[in-house]
Amino acid sequence: MNATKKLDFLIQDKNLDADLKRIARKVMQAERITFEEGVLLYERGELGYLGVLANYIREKRHGDHTYFNRNFHIEPTNVCVYDCKFCAYSRLIKQRDEGWEMDVDGMMDIIRKYDDEPVTEVHITGGVVPKQNLDFYAEFFKRCKAHRPALHIKGLTPVEYYYIFKKAKLTHYEGLKYLKACGLDSMPGGGAEIFHADVREKIAGDKCTAEQWLDIHEQAHNLGMRTNATMLYGHIEEFWHRVDHMERLRQLQDKTGGFQTFIPLKFRNQGHQMSDVPEVSVIEDLRNYAIARIYMDNFDHIKAYWAMISRDTAQLSLAFGVDDIDGTLDDTTKIYSMAGAEEQHPGMSTQQVVELIKHVGRHPIERDTLYQVVTDYKDHVFETTSKANYYSLPVVE
Ligand code: SF4
Repeated sequence: MNATKKLDFLIQDKNLDADLKRIARKVMQAERITFEEGVLLYERGELGYLGVLANYIREKRHGDHTYFNRNFHIEPTNVCVYDCKFCAYSRLIKQRDEGWEMDVDGMMDIIRKYDDEPVTEVHITGGVVPKQNLDFYAEFFKRCKAHRPALHIKGLTPVEYYYIFKKAKLTHYEGLKYLKACGLDSMPGGGAEIFHADVREKIAGDKCTAEQWLDIHEQAHNLGMRTNATMLYGHIEEFWHRVDHMERLRQLQDKTGGFQTFIPLKFRNQGHQMSDVPEVSVIEDLRNYAIARIYMDNFDHIKAYWAMISRDTAQLSLAFGVDDIDGTLDDTTKIYSMAGAEEQHPGMSTQQVVELIKHVGRHPIERDTLYQVVTDYKDHVFETTSKANYYSLPVVE
């Protein structure tokens, strides 16, 4: 049965709760659901029901297409002036001996390591330290572009930018305009956590506010840059906080249209100050993806980080609204593994990603950062499983 027939069948079900039936009809008619209906989905929507709605939207937008990209990460430092309670990754300034702080030469060494690899994007994010300031990133972005102009720089979040621009006495718009001229191409979605102050002040009270986070994205959109957005879910927030978070993003997207992808991030509970908070189940992960797909009707893509939730859950998520599973990561990011993610050494070759997607009946497409097709793998046959062949990633294990 195809996705439309399944939704139709659900709507005809005489036993379905009247409110849930109304929402299902709205989805069929491509009507936006309200804040209250978003909360209702969290409270009363069962996994099977949510999957039918989310998959209908996913297949209407993307069919079976499932995206991934080839990227690598640079984390310039894990020392941080902030003290987010859920962060297993950072070290406070007074503990900086336990962390790392790169200089521009060190970051360029990483860029050069990938010179012969078919990667399209470098993803840069990390902690916040005073010496990695505006001049530091301006120099790095310029040198990076001079060295490899086609490499897309997806760099830093409003958490870093708010600090850097304040120190440089620049508005968000001025600072981003300057760094764009230096080579910055787009922004990842981190640092959003949960916007509502009741939660944000408890888990990330000293970094940028929701309003500052949203304004920096708005200014990036005004400059023609595309950005992503995340939500850290499954800790002390209530369902309505998640809907409030998505609502604020949906409103900004109505205004600018600059977001590409929404990325729910699962709270993991190892190695930080919130380790006593239990993690939510895989069922809740899938429900959350599905509700995100239903609620965020003006976002093109919903992404699951396979390294964060495991390869199996990533496969399942493709039936619950997700159409992007991020990248053929090598082992260059520690952000997930240090918080207790499933993958302690996240690495998957292109062949492995393609097979992961094909095994659940989807159509793998390698994209660049802006979702332009790099390679369509639908009918591609890999000649060998050797890590040395062209389709292998730089580092895989
Ligand atoms: S989450 Fe980011 S801003 Fe917060 S402490 Fe960790 S590195 Fe710093």
